[in-house]
Amino acid sequence: MFDTISNKLQNAFKNLRGLGKISESNVSDSLREVRLALLEADVNFKVARDFIERVKTKSLGQEVIESVHPGQQIIKIIHDELVELLGSTNAGLNLSGNPASIMMVGLHGSGKTTSSAKLAKLLTKQGRQPVLVAADVYRPAAMDQLETLGKQLGIPVFLKKGETDVLAIAREAFDFARANNRNTLIFDTAGRLQIDEPLVQELVRLRDLVKPQEILLVLDAATGQEAVNVATHFDQALNITGSILTKLDGDARGGAALSMKAVTGKPIKLAGTGEKLEDFEPFHPERMASRILG
Ligand code: GDP
Repeated sequence: MFDTISNKLQNAFKNLRGLGKISESNVSDSLREVRLALLEADVNFKVARDFIERVKTKSLGQEVIESVHPGQQIIKIIHDELVELLGSTNAGLNLSGNPASIMMVGLHGSGKTTSSAKLAKLLTKQGRQPVLVAADVYRPAAMDQLETLGKQLGIPVFLKKGETDVLAIAREAFDFARANNRNTLIFDTAGRLQIDEPLVQELVRLRDLVKPQEILLVLDAATGQEAVNVATHFDQALNITGSILTKLDGDARGGAALSMKAVTGKPIKLAGTGEKLEDFEPFHPERMASRILG
């Protein structure tokens, strides 16, 4: 995870550690390397520029200039700014509804169905009683996949094969949840290869009916800036409450994780770190920053 950016930052830090005295020009030189590392990691251009500006301003402050190990102080500033960039603290889920509902949205292949099951498992561990709702009426294979995952986990899956009206499925899913004492509905909605108007309209109708506490956008971390663009579009259409970044295990660059909050204003709430159902965790900015810094 994050190997490329970690290596690049480590190189930049070697130079920083060696700095005896701080001047505007040697700080600028060292930060240029950090900026390049961010850009190579596919961090949004403006996000990288603003990041470097903030670090530079703080690095040229009296406290750093007068300290015995100024380079070390600058590395600390970079660490703290990375944590900020990643969202500062873990943004928890709002599950205040009775039953609570979560809409999982995202493009086909992003890991939406897998993440729905992973989330159901995580919530079960936290003492909740989830039900998975198969709300992708276009791909019978997606319903089958969810059914299989539910069986594997021993978590009920509400599905109506052959039903084409997603709103009808949603209404019945609430009845099912109430009748079976399930306090959290997780809707695995339809995905497409790209965002299109019919998909958006269907998701908006479903959102307006379900009134979910959480609308979580599932994004493939390996797609970098493209993931951020997708997030911007989904957020404009649906006003998402946060995102789930999947496939972080295969993400050497980290650009999506580092740009998401700054560009969309919405936190990354959960992270997928492998194909297994337990490879899933709340997204902790502090831990992620430590992984990035190696
Ligand atoms: P959907 O079309 O968005 O529902 O995507 P799926 O849930 O079917 O996932 C697509 C592929 O990505 C599957 O092969 C999953 O096993 C894989 N996948 C999902 N999340 C992760 C993850 O965090 N790490 C890895 N390595 N693979 C993942």
